[in-house]
Amino acid sequence: MSKNVLSNIDLSAIRQQFPILDRQVKGKQLVYLDNAATTQKPKAVIDTLTDYYSRYNANIHRGIHTLAEEATIAYESTREKVRGFINAKHVEEIIFTRGTTESINLVANSWGRSQLKEGDEIIISTLEHHSNIVPWQLIAKEKGANLRVVPIGDNGEFLFDEYLKLLSANTRMVSVVHASNALGVINPVKQIIEAAHRMGALVMVDGAQSTVHLDIDVQDLQADFFAFSGHKVYGPTGVGVLYGKKEILESMPPFQGGGEMIREVSFKETTFNELPYKFEAGTPNIADTIALGSALDLITSIGKLNIRHHEDELLAYATNALLSIESLRIMGNTPNKVSVCSFVIDGVHPQDIGILLDNQGIAVRTGHHCTQPLMARLGIPGTTRASFAMYNTFEEIDILIAGIQKVIRMMK
Ligand code: PMP
Repeated sequence: MSKNVLSNIDLSAIRQQFPILDRQVKGKQLVYLDNAATTQKPKAVIDTLTDYYSRYNANIHRGIHTLAEEATIAYESTREKVRGFINAKHVEEIIFTRGTTESINLVANSWGRSQLKEGDEIIISTLEHHSNIVPWQLIAKEKGANLRVVPIGDNGEFLFDEYLKLLSANTRMVSVVHASNALGVINPVKQIIEAAHRMGALVMVDGAQSTVHLDIDVQDLQADFFAFSGHKVYGPTGVGVLYGKKEILESMPPFQGGGEMIREVSFKETTFNELPYKFEAGTPNIADTIALGSALDLITSIGKLNIRHHEDELLAYATNALLSIESLRIMGNTPNKVSVCSFVIDGVHPQDIGILLDNQGIAVRTGHHCTQPLMARLGIPGTTRASFAMYNTFEEIDILIAGIQKVIRMMK
């Protein structure tokens, strides 16, 4: 317990804000270490959802009654909170989507379909989540463009020199993950963006895993597009964000057609709404978007630096402890990581590890983590992944280590 006091955050106060952490699984206290898949939700988020549906549920933007006005103000205030959270210059650069996946699909479909032509190239990396592979594959096939893939080193590190070799006058888009969900390694996105811009290419950053851990400043990064999901930043599922530079978004055609994204419709012709509404067709996910604002408020009130410091300590502690297990290998053990430990154990299948840990109340993720090409590159079918959030404790890591040792004893 003494270790927890060293951090600048009051862990027990934080844990009290997450009601789910109190529950038991298989008769044991839950140890939730699957935060890279989704984070748990604080009371503030749950209360915001209840409050919205109990007091001011209404459709937004076009209503003139009180409920509609309150809902619109709350929804739009989250847009401003997101703007501040990632330091976008303009609030209309923040588009609400269903999540990172939809954000990437929006860019691939809108920008890609209108801009790409035969022979153009899109660069991604070996580390990508399927969400940042498949949308580009689909649009590349449709437009006759080619996908180029930056190789990685044995520790999952982005090979920058290889990237520079792939960049050319044909490169139109570079779409890379900021922090790998499978390994935790952080990519040098600022340098990646600088190099792409020198060649006249745009860059999309998949921030699904970085936004909750790192300070995000899209202006400093000079990212053209940046995507993240609400559910990975302590907010609800079903809402996410696409940031895009205003002038680029303005030049792009709509992604989906419908209500809200129009200015005027006749059977002959339709004119489109201004940013950000041009990209938000139909009734959006109002409640979850408002609750995302509560999640961001919580992170800001605790302090991103404080959270990062605590998570770095957890990561170092877990890495050391895991490495002391003889038959265990950490995949992607690089110095620059978010708090994710992905590992394999000689002779034990990740799925068996996952099931046996669950029997002890420990939730981890096993498998390919939606990164099959990365697993193929590493020569493994999958890993066991423990990923840490601001509410995790050093005691929970001790329980994980003891749990793994028990699994090894049972399987040998
Ligand atoms: N990219 C990365 C790096 C991810 O970790 C995830 C979620 N696992 C996604 C994209 C897709 O996010 P979502 O499922 O929330 O759309």
